[in-house]
Amino acid sequence: MRIDDDLLAILACPACRAPLRVSGGDGGAAPELLCTGCLRAYPVRDDIPVLLVDQAREPEPPVARADEPPGTEEPADGG
Ligand SMILES: [Zn+2]
Repeated sequence: MRIDDDLLAILACPACRAPLRVSGGDGGAAPELLCTGCLRAYPVRDDIPVLLVDQAREPEPPVARADEPPGTEEPADGG
C-alpha cells in the first residue's frame, strides 16, 4: 500500500480542507489518511483514499477529567 506524495499534496480533508498524512499501513495496520486539522481518519480501500466525511473515523475525544465532580472550583483569592 503506497500513496504518492504528489497525490497527497493535492488531497485535502473534505471537512476542513487541511492537508492529510498517511497513518498506519505498516505492520499489518490498516492504512488511513489522517487529517492534520480535524484529525479525522479516512480509510484507504484498494489503494484509493475514501475522502468522505461519512466514511471517516471520528477522532478520539480529548481526554477529559471527568473524575472531578462539578462545582468544586477553588475560591478566589481574598486579596
Ligand atoms: Zn479535517
